[in-house]
Amino acid sequence: MFVYGPVPSRRLGKSLGVSPIPSKICSYNCIYCQLGRTTKLQIKRESFFPREKIINDLKNHLKKSKIDIDYITFVGDGEPTLCSDIGWLIDQCKQHYQIPVAVITNGSILFKKEVRRDLDQSDIIVPSLDAGSEDIFKLINRPHRSIGFNDMLQGLVDLRQEYSGKIWLEVMLVDNVNDSNSSLMDIKKAINLIQPDRVYISVPIRPPAEPWVKVPAPEKIIHAHEILDTFQELTDYESGEFGLNTSINAESAILNICSRHPLREEQAKKIESRFFETGCIDALLEKSLLNRVQYRDVTYLLKVR
Ligand code: SF4
Repeated sequence: MFVYGPVPSRRLGKSLGVSPIPSKICSYNCIYCQLGRTTKLQIKRESFFPREKIINDLKNHLKKSKIDIDYITFVGDGEPTLCSDIGWLIDQCKQHYQIPVAVITNGSILFKKEVRRDLDQSDIIVPSLDAGSEDIFKLINRPHRSIGFNDMLQGLVDLRQEYSGKIWLEVMLVDNVNDSNSSLMDIKKAINLIQPDRVYISVPIRPPAEPWVKVPAPEKIIHAHEILDTFQELTDYESGEFGLNTSINAESAILNICSRHPLREEQAKKIESRFFETGCIDALLEKSLLNRVQYRDVTYLLKVR
């Protein structure tokens, strides 16, 4: 399954996710990643799956989905721009559907012209920018050794000059990692070069790859908001329901969502009740297909990888 949702997204409304990349291949190994640590750190682009299969999966989802979808969103079980078919996939979406296309990317390989060209038919690109200097970049994103901060930043600057869609930049703030005044000023300098349409601040609200990662105190978030002149803070949970029309039962729905998106246990219970089922969460935990993780006083369910 390459397509999941629609899931409620804090920025994109009802977002139908398309993941063209195996779990968890990424060019970064972010300390806050909600998918856990990167298992294959790579920069080489590949066609990981037959691209027709991905489009057919999308077609089936759109046929069955009874919910209006706000965006088809390319997002990954890793970094979606590592998929060398992403340009073709976006073109197919634009040719066959009247739904805007978004790409959520870490922005790490936008310095490659072919990657920028692949994304140019999309409507919105949501890249990350968590650092304004090489040392913080290495600390928070732990990039592939061949990605330098300046190359990454230049890729975003070049994207802005060439791309006619919207760029919504997202800054993940981590306590005592990138939330000092000087780190924020460096990020602001980088933002001034990129000139995105919007800047969002996000915080690690779901279980992170590294257990020591913490959400900054509210006053630090407010300070960051002032310095970075953000459009909106993404410091709370998304609201809304998951689209379940393409799942045959609660077990498959919960597993499908958990493989991309840590699920709060209360959300998983709501999914059970929408299928009029009980006990499936416990069964998945017993079969060791799910893990229960406590983070910030909330219980999450994570798929065992
Ligand atoms: S947060 Fe995104 S960019 Fe960072 S390691 Fe996870 S998938 Fe990769």
